[in-house]
Amino acid sequence: MEEASVTPMMAQYLEIKQGYPDALLFYRMGDFYEMFFDDAVAASAALDIALTKRGKHAGDDIPMCGVPVHAAEGYLLTLIRKGFRVAVGEQLESPQEAKKRGSKSVVKRDVVRLVTPGTLTEESLLEARRHNYLAALGQVRDNWALAWADISTGAFHVMPLGRARIGAELARLGPSEVLASDGVAETLREVLTDLGLDPTTLGAASFDSSAAEARLASLFKVQSLAGFGTFERAELSAMGALVDYLDITQKGRLPILRPPRQEQVSRILQIDAATRRNLELTESLQGGRAGSLLSVIDMTVTSAGARLLERRVASPSRDLEVINERLEAVNWGVEGPIAGNLRDALKSVPDVDRALSRLGLDRGGPRDLAAVRTALAQAGLIADRLTGEGLPDLITRSVAALTGQEDLLGLLDAALVAEPGLRVSDGGFVATGHDPALDEARTLRDEGRGVIARMQGEYAQETGVSSLKIKHNNVLGYFIETTALHAEKMFALSERFIHRQTTANQVRFTTVELSDMERRILNAGNEALEIERRIYEELRQAVLSAAPVLSELALGLAEIDLSLALAELARQRDWCRPKVDNSRAFGITGGRHPVVEAALAASGTPFIANDCDLSAEGQAAAVTLLTGPNMAGKSTYLRQNALIALLAQMGSYVPAQTAHVGLVSQIFSRVGASDDLARGRSTFMVEMVETAAILNQADDRALVILDEIGRGTATYDGLSIAWATLEHLQAVNRVRGLFATHYHELTTLAGKLDGVSNATVAVKEWDNEVIFLHEVHAGAADRSYGVQVAQLAGLPAPVITRARAVLDALEKGERERATPKALIDDLPLFSAAARAPEPVVSQETSAVEEKLREILPDNLSPRDALQALYDLKDLL
Ligand code: ADP
Repeated sequence: MEEASVTPMMAQYLEIKQGYPDALLFYRMGDFYEMFFDDAVAASAALDIALTKRGKHAGDDIPMCGVPVHAAEGYLLTLIRKGFRVAVGEQLESPQEAKKRGSKSVVKRDVVRLVTPGTLTEESLLEARRHNYLAALGQVRDNWALAWADISTGAFHVMPLGRARIGAELARLGPSEVLASDGVAETLREVLTDLGLDPTTLGAASFDSSAAEARLASLFKVQSLAGFGTFERAELSAMGALVDYLDITQKGRLPILRPPRQEQVSRILQIDAATRRNLELTESLQGGRAGSLLSVIDMTVTSAGARLLERRVASPSRDLEVINERLEAVNWGVEGPIAGNLRDALKSVPDVDRALSRLGLDRGGPRDLAAVRTALAQAGLIADRLTGEGLPDLITRSVAALTGQEDLLGLLDAALVAEPGLRVSDGGFVATGHDPALDEARTLRDEGRGVIARMQGEYAQETGVSSLKIKHNNVLGYFIETTALHAEKMFALSERFIHRQTTANQVRFTTVELSDMERRILNAGNEALEIERRIYEELRQAVLSAAPVLSELALGLAEIDLSLALAELARQRDWCRPKVDNSRAFGITGGRHPVVEAALAASGTPFIANDCDLSAEGQAAAVTLLTGPNMAGKSTYLRQNALIALLAQMGSYVPAQTAHVGLVSQIFSRVGASDDLARGRSTFMVEMVETAAILNQADDRALVILDEIGRGTATYDGLSIAWATLEHLQAVNRVRGLFATHYHELTTLAGKLDGVSNATVAVKEWDNEVIFLHEVHAGAADRSYGVQVAQLAGLPAPVITRARAVLDALEKGERERATPKALIDDLPLFSAAARAPEPVVSQETSAVEEKLREILPDNLSPRDALQALYDLKDLL
């Protein structure tokens, strides 16, 4: 079909859609957002809603689906989670206005916002206790930078970094969306894919560093960016692209961002993506927060506190002063007698950052103003309790940010009702007594109803029709209604009672007086709403002009919440304050793994605490080789020590009796390939690439944890790689490290290499079975107990017996220095023992088994069954 057949509305749709080829277009039609064509097909499948059709285009039916506007947020959430971006197209004028422009005119529409994973602000679309970062990668020649922002809280950061660190930093931040130029996206394809990130690409203009300066200066309303720091071109490029994208997605309405904070790689404890995964810091290996370190240590009572904790866990510090200041604050919470009350006061602190963000983008409502009010009031109460001497510096600084906004609090308090609603358009959120004109309009509106009731009585008297009623509907407004029977009396007074309508049984009238009253009620209602709108806008502006101070206040509250939460954790779980200093010590006594301990506690099993000493002398390395059977607790021990270092440097107490941690610069944790199968790409190659990264990057302050490295290949290969790796870490990297291995041969290195020692996880052998003691002590394991563990795992008895025989032969052969080939030739064939399981079983069949075989449970009465049990027991 030709062009002419396209309806004006469809023409408009297609024109708008053209601008957003990568997004689903929500096209507003009255109370619905409609989607058409491929958008409709994709959305109906993703949302599981009906796909219908509407009209034809180019001869074909147009697929259509829609979601009601009032429920749109829920659908948006699903679509965003499923990886879609959504362009929200609104009606920009009323149908009446459109008509005025011409009878054929379609209502003006345009996209008011592009909803993407990195630019969410709605409470229902966000996780309260997690950040939602949008990141941008900048590259100018050989320099790289990463900028990131959370528009739901106003956080904005930038960091110059080497290309090699990009993966690690992105893993640290866990952004919801990453912006990159086409070139950068291509160059970093592998790194990004590895992290499960599919970059949003923008044109080169978005990344232009000169344009960026202007963009940033205008956003922050400053002449030059010098006041915020000195930025490299790559940093400007990344920040500029980020702001440009916000401009594109928010359609010119820029969110409140704090001035960019420059971060330095060198001030953060470096943890790469593989280590983060392995240590299960914020997510467990199964995915999700449950089972992660974060999940077992989070005792914060506010969302902002929880987000701060997430940030700390992801980015522990390397700055002694910062670490000790935080420890001091936790210590205050541990010893302070007031913590309990304070935590109660904190519980009712709303999320100021997110309320501010919504108000800033004009997506908020009266409830967000109330959130600011409550936060200010609670902050005042908290500050009142925290006066006097002896507060640690961090708390003193946080408390200082809590006060000074009494005027704003006074204003909000006077202006708002106790529990305002969500939307401005509903009205009713301004308190009585705040604005005389509003009070008057409301009185008029409310009293109008009373006046009308009075009029009904008067008219009844006047006409003598006592059954007459004044009613209201949307077509006629207010009217007087009487039955046809009595209508005569009204018609007789037609001067006064103007006939409006006659229905089957009723006749309806109005009066000049009644119309007047109606107009006044309507006007008063509209006027009240208008005044409320104006007041809302005034309050919003008052709050926004205090935004920088309010963010500081929010941070102060979060800081207090976090300090007290970590203190509570330390008290409940009996953690200790670590000594963190500039040495290369690493001495832990009575250390525990917080997550494993919590999991065991649930089943009432005690966790066995263990010491660890990796203190490096002078220039030397300090590496402990850990041997012991599977399931003895090697991995747990390795990880617990890494976690203790990490907790100490984020400024927390640690799960140990005592802990001395000399500043750690980097933590590396690797697991032998076969343990990493969950990620579905575990190959020996990956393991080696990751090991190479450690050998190339670890410095003499690194803490390295290697779990069964080299076991992804044949024994001798694996052993030699593990051997060489250990030597390199000892001699060249000079790290502090723990090395769990199956290769007992390695334990001989302890005597030969400086700083290398052996430790083993003890087991007890009992009646050919192993009992795991989970105790780590000096020395090497004498054997690996693999057969016993296999037995515990339920391998069939013949296989276990056979394995024992093979093992004995091998061990005997080793002692007698026979070649493996000769040994294997000597072994009796497996088939002789196990291929025919029947005879093996029958040979060993006992009287009890025979008796059991005879029993047919289905035929037994409960009494017979009991008797059978007695008989069986007698046979023992
Ligand atoms: P390995 O790495 O030696 O195979 P793991 O560290 O995976 O062993 O530990 C196996 C299981 O033993 C853990 O899941 C845990 O339940 C238990 N375990 C480990 N260490 C301890 C400990 N110190 N105290 C109590 N139970 C422990």
